[in-house]
Amino acid sequence: WPSVHSGSSDSVRSSDSSPEPGVYKVMLLGDHGVGKTTLAGIFGGTQDTFSHESDHPEDTYERNLEVDGEKTTLMVYDIWEQSGPHTWMQDNCLQMGDAFLLVFSVTDRGSFQRLPGLLLRLRTARPHRHIPVILVGNKGDLARSREVSMEEGRSLAGMLSCKYTETSAALHHNTQELLEGVVRQIRLRKDEGER
Ligand code: GDP
Repeated sequence: WPSVHSGSSDSVRSSDSSPEPGVYKVMLLGDHGVGKTTLAGIFGGTQDTFSHESDHPEDTYERNLEVDGEKTTLMVYDIWEQSGPHTWMQDNCLQMGDAFLLVFSVTDRGSFQRLPGLLLRLRTARPHRHIPVILVGNKGDLARSREVSMEEGRSLAGMLSCKYTETSAALHHNTQELLEGVVRQIRLRKDEGER
């Protein structure tokens, strides 16, 4: 299973699947080139230092953060493209996530158009679960090559009952807010699921 890369956190945990309170798995899904790895590096706070210790790609990022006064550990997995489409690994990825970021690039309409299919696959794999799904329009800094407007993004998210946000991994814009939003969504859905 993917190696764990410890970021700015003060503890390293093994990535076994036993559910620990306050530890959540966040999966990055989406087309090649939309910015998943760049976002994962920012989320892990490790993009300046990673890849020096082994020749394995570092694909799991751990981040400790405090949201609304409560400590949380997010394990961010950038494994979606690792083994090719429709493989065991992808199915496993859909099964183990506590939250999903469906990332597209606002400069690549194709990556946006493939989101509904991706979401259908997720909902088929996890039909009865309260799982937060956030559509993430990345590369918001590339205004001149934008192919998908913010209104279109919001509107699709509304139709699919997901949250919507835009980020620029290049400028670190909205990335911290997104992570905190993920934590709040996970807590909210867990509370709803328990009622
Ligand atoms: P992945 O295939 O989804 O993991 O995408 P990567 O993270 O490898 O990013 C693909 C390319 O897009 C790289 O050259 C990144 O530097 C670039 N990139 C990622 N995010 C942004 C962004 O927000 N703005 C800009 N301008 N480029 C980005």
